[in-house]
Amino acid sequence: MLLDAHSRPVKDLRISVTDKCNLRCRYCMPEEGVPPRRHEDLLSLEQLAEAARAAVGLGVTKIRLTGGEPLVRHRELSKILPRLSQMNVFSMVVTSAVIRVPLEWMSIPRVRVAVSIDGLPSTTTSAASPPPTRRS
Ligand code: SF4
Repeated sequence: MLLDAHSRPVKDLRISVTDKCNLRCRYCMPEEGVPPRRHEDLLSLEQLAEAARAAVGLGVTKIRLTGGEPLVRHRELSKILPRLSQMNVFSMVVTSAVIRVPLEWMSIPRVRVAVSIDGLPSTTTSAASPPPTRRS
């Protein structure tokens, strides 16, 4: 079992599947973006599944898939989400929804999609949370 610094069991795991994102939220990303990573430096589908399997074996019950914008890898996520579901783990994809969420994900057991308000039109964001800017 995984324990945190206070000896509490770790049940949640966050896996960042990409550093790419079209938005530029001030608290996350510099205006000019970040130097892009090579695709081969990212976890492959198999590595993702292996990391998830190991984490589940250590007691993790929920995996959040984030980025950047995880939907830039939506084709790969469409393959990994059913595999995570078979591991009996809850998966949550956290997206700004600037890319359409594949509808078929809604029928995969134990899969949820959380839409971050960062993707909302700027008229609905407050001054305390400055609107993100999109790449032109
Ligand atoms: S949408 Fe998310 S990943 Fe993209 S810049 Fe904003 S906070 Fe960062």
